Amino acid sequence: MDRRAPLATIRDRRSFDGGLLAFGRRGDLRVLNFSMTEAELQRQKEMQQAEELLFTGPQALGFVKGLFAGHFVSDWVMPYPRIPAAQQSQLDQTLKELRAFLDTKLDPTAIDRQADIPREVIDGLGRVGVLGMTAPGDYGGHGFSQLANTKILEELGTRCASTSVFVNAHHSIGIRALLLFGTHDQKQKWLPKLCTGEWLGAFALTEREAGSDAANVQMTATPSDDGSHYILNGEKRYITNTAIAHVLTVMARTPVPGKPGKDAITAFLVTPDVPGFELIEPRMEKMGIRGTATGRFALRNVKVPKENILGPFGKGLKVALTVLDFGRTTFGACCTGAAKTCLGLAVKHANTRKQFNKTLGSFHLVRKKIARIAADAYAMEAITTITASLIDRGLEDYMLETAMLKVFTTELLWECVNEAFQIHGGAAYMTDLPLERMLRDARINQIGEGSNEVLKSFIALVGMRGPGMEFKEIYDTMLKPTREGGIGKAWNAGMSRLGAAVRVPDVPVGSAELKSFASQLGRLIWRFNLAVNKSLVLYREPILDMQLVQERIAGAAMDLFASTAVLSRWDSEIQFGQRNGQSPSTSNTAAELFLRQSFRRIRDFLSGLGDNDDKFILRAADSALGHHTGNAAGAAAVSGGPL
Ligand SMILES: Cc1cc2nc3c(=O)[nH]c(=O)nc-3n(C[C@H](O)[C@H](O)[C@H](O)COP(=O)(O)OP(=O)(O)OC[C@H]3O[C@@H](n4cnc5c(N)ncnc54)[C@H](O)[C@@H]3O)c2cc1C
Repeated sequence: MDRRAPLATIRDRRSFDGGLLAFGRRGDLRVLNFSMTEAELQRQKEMQQAEELLFTGPQALGFVKGLFAGHFVSDWVMPYPRIPAAQQSQLDQTLKELRAFLDTKLDPTAIDRQADIPREVIDGLGRVGVLGMTAPGDYGGHGFSQLANTKILEELGTRCASTSVFVNAHHSIGIRALLLFGTHDQKQKWLPKLCTGEWLGAFALTEREAGSDAANVQMTATPSDDGSHYILNGEKRYITNTAIAHVLTVMARTPVPGKPGKDAITAFLVTPDVPGFELIEPRMEKMGIRGTATGRFALRNVKVPKENILGPFGKGLKVALTVLDFGRTTFGACCTGAAKTCLGLAVKHANTRKQFNKTLGSFHLVRKKIARIAADAYAMEAITTITASLIDRGLEDYMLETAMLKVFTTELLWECVNEAFQIHGGAAYMTDLPLERMLRDARINQIGEGSNEVLKSFIALVGMRGPGMEFKEIYDTMLKPTREGGIGKAWNAGMSRLGAAVRVPDVPVGSAELKSFASQLGRLIWRFNLAVNKSLVLYREPILDMQLVQERIAGAAMDLFASTAVLSRWDSEIQFGQRNGQSPSTSNTAAELFLRQSFRRIRDFLSGLGDNDDKFILRAADSALGHHTGNAAGAAAVSGGPL
């Protein structure tokens, strides 16, 4: 049997906390081979179940999946989304109220020092509507779109990471689960008080054995003999709002009726007042976002009525993955807000602090940092806006876009904080400035809601799945030309691959000033698609283990998405300015710099596929780790030759 079949199908899509998918016990994806053994048939069955979990049916081609196929699906990203006028005025009013409240009542330093968000702040956020922003008016919410909600979270992100993470846990992953999956009765019962903040929500997936590998949930939910309730046992850790939540969405493993030995993860609504709910550690001592109540709890023979199952029985992972997609969008907004704060602080300091008889802002190495923060903040807002609008406009599958948003904005924010910190020198190290707090706060972002490493691997492998399927059609038909429908499918797949290989996608901008950037972007998408094809053909199955290759592919794809968002935003600003007889926005310098740097990174990622030190990295890691078995397949393939 040929072990080097093209990447085609995902064997075992498993979810992990971040809404990520881990891929089998080793965190990998696998290929279907052709003559199937029993085990492989079973694997295919599991895969079909996983497909069902993640994809509900034929869907419109999303933007990022389009990129991997060599297309520019412009409808999803151009023109740059705008909030409809009616909602914009409601949003402006809410933002005005929110700012007035935060200016007087929010003290991020005190929240950090006292490791608590005062109840007065939570109540105030509830009064302004922040705690039920996207819930329909019937339940006491504002009925805001996801895009409008990102503007609220961005505002919180500019001020206090503890508060924005608290709101994210309560609303974007807590309430959101009820909004998306709750029955009418569940919504009636829980939402009104959750929207005002009288009750608070939490989302409990992570356990000791289920971190990145979130499908490895050990908490059990056993049905009672009469079927009226479930008995939950197990422990959860690192759960935001544990100590203050009135209702927690808890993931637990349930036996599948009629299938002895089989189990599935189901989501339950659990209240902490039930007998057997034990707060092991209400507020774990931690480095950053200290105001949030991150805790550990145990459920010991806790009886939960069957009416408290949230979403379909056995589909808890789908609940988790879907909800986390929303959480990642607001995560991006919070990071954008924090990056804008970094810019404000850096600019102020660089314009006032003098050394060598000059302001710091006159030194090129300081200017470089400020330019970078300005460019990144501009891009972070653009990519957040586009991603949120995909959800509002009904794209069904936006997992890749939300994963990219999360990785991209969290990595950029970390750099922005670091640059702003450096510009402030020793002053940043002192606790009277917010930068040391911001540095501590920002570090969680690369870990929570799916660690960035796992997400990068996910982006590359799920993105490559589409072209991989097409190669498989061709390969299958070459091996067995008589297979049913094989020639037709292989022809279509071949034409699709060939079409993408010879056609540079059109990036349709309206502004003449941006045509050159648009055509560069089109050519980079074309080059990216060729690189994806070459990687699939050259590395075949071992690519599933080759995270260094995956990281470059994911990196290039993320920068293509971010560049698109920036180009779309800049284009719309120019168009808007021209319609109103104004000169183009001053933020063009940030957009221009971002595009130039992003294009450079994409070129570097792609050339790194053929010119790299991967073999030596893996050897040195093996040597340091004290073993010589890890990554053998990947190392062998890496040495297989340049692209
Ligand atoms: C402050 C805070 C708040 C949180 N809030 C919540 C919450 O409200 N609800 C909830 O359910 N959870 C929450 N979490 C849990 C959080 O989502 C997990 O910490 C996260 O999923 C990572 O899991 P882990 O900590 O067990 O790390 P591990 O899974 O042990 O991973 C450690 C590191 O290993 C690497 N790694 C792991 N797997 C792979 C792989 N396949 N490929 C490459 N590298 C890999 C990554 O670099 C990762 O950072 C919170 C955590 C913190 C710290």
